[in-house]
Amino acid sequence: MTFPIQFSDRVKRLPPYLFVELDAAKRRAKGQGKDIIDLGVGDPDLPTPAPIIAALAKAAKDPRNHRYALDQGLPELRRAIQRWCHDRFGVSLDPDQEILPLIGSKEGIAHLPLGLVNPKDAVLVPDPCYPPYRSGTLFAGGEVVSLPLFEENGFRPDFSTVKRATLKKAKLLFLNYPNNPTGATADPSFFDEAIDISRRHRIMICHDAAYTEIAFDGFRPTSFLERPGAKAVGIEFHSLSKSYNMTGWRIGFACGRREMVAALAKVKANIDSGIFQAVQLAGIAALRMSRLEIEKRNRIYEERRDLLVGGLHRLGWRVPKPRASFYVWARVPVKRSSGDFAKWVLNQTGIVVTPGVGFGPSGEGYVRMALTVPKQRIEEACRRLRKLLG
Ligand code: PLP
Repeated sequence: MTFPIQFSDRVKRLPPYLFVELDAAKRRAKGQGKDIIDLGVGDPDLPTPAPIIAALAKAAKDPRNHRYALDQGLPELRRAIQRWCHDRFGVSLDPDQEILPLIGSKEGIAHLPLGLVNPKDAVLVPDPCYPPYRSGTLFAGGEVVSLPLFEENGFRPDFSTVKRATLKKAKLLFLNYPNNPTGATADPSFFDEAIDISRRHRIMICHDAAYTEIAFDGFRPTSFLERPGAKAVGIEFHSLSKSYNMTGWRIGFACGRREMVAALAKVKANIDSGIFQAVQLAGIAALRMSRLEIEKRNRIYEERRDLLVGGLHRLGWRVPKPRASFYVWARVPVKRSSGDFAKWVLNQTGIVVTPGVGFGPSGEGYVRMALTVPKQRIEEACRRLRKLLG
């Protein structure tokens, strides 16, 4: 005897996963032995630096690290985060109340609304965006209010177009600069404007700062928390994933307004049991590493960016040069939807690009290309694209 199983209404409310078809097409092409150049996933191909691996190897052998971890993170880790934020951004944080280590920033971002958003509360979410802002809001029963990001506004929300009634009922605002998927950046004055809106309408801010350490041409991305008044209204999420090529390790942190940190800590205390302690010790090694490593790595991405953008320009595809993140966000150069274009490019050339619509309706008309493959593969991708589009 069996009975039907229904997904919860909460899960049913999640938007469809728009990359399913493309993933299946990618698997099929791989199965047919096609030489795939994957510009689709934002996952660094460069290895985790050696001192971090050495710290993990040492810590993994110590039985004291094999037990449940403290769910607020090791005090030494919170202090290393405090120092890093101070040295990098000049931001002062209380390691006991204003910093919370996470099992990767994604889990923190997705769990945050459970601690702060009540059913029917409005949450302002950029469109296009990293998908957990939307799914985390929906899991908490909140209402997603999209803030479209347009090229003419530098892919930053135009708060002057948001209705007063919406601002009045909004509880939380998600922001993300340097931005995934658009590669856009924000100047300090943009954060000041957001803080002003937040104060006037009592809207908490959640700034996702996953890409602050990937920047080019001497540009230095700002932490939202550097701006006056930020810590009174918001929380910021950092990730060691992209900064130190540690995506698989699962370590990041939240910092900022203490009640927001406390709300997230309370949710997490009921859901997980902390970060593997050996990974926390490896995280300390990462945060203490010389910035020269980051700069060396950024020069590699910068070269790749110049190759890809230069190659696309030569075939007549005008795309902007990002000054941070490792994404090139390009307008679809032919009369096709982003999904059709991505499938067509994959079938014709073996190149995987991500359709912009997967990040929200306003991403339609664009594709995202990640600079996470070596130079020779980027050159090969440009050759293949020239044959197709040139
Ligand atoms: N935020 C943004 C904008 C991202 O693109 C990603 C990963 O792709 C994350 C957060 C999550 O990073 P992690 O959970 O690995 O720390």
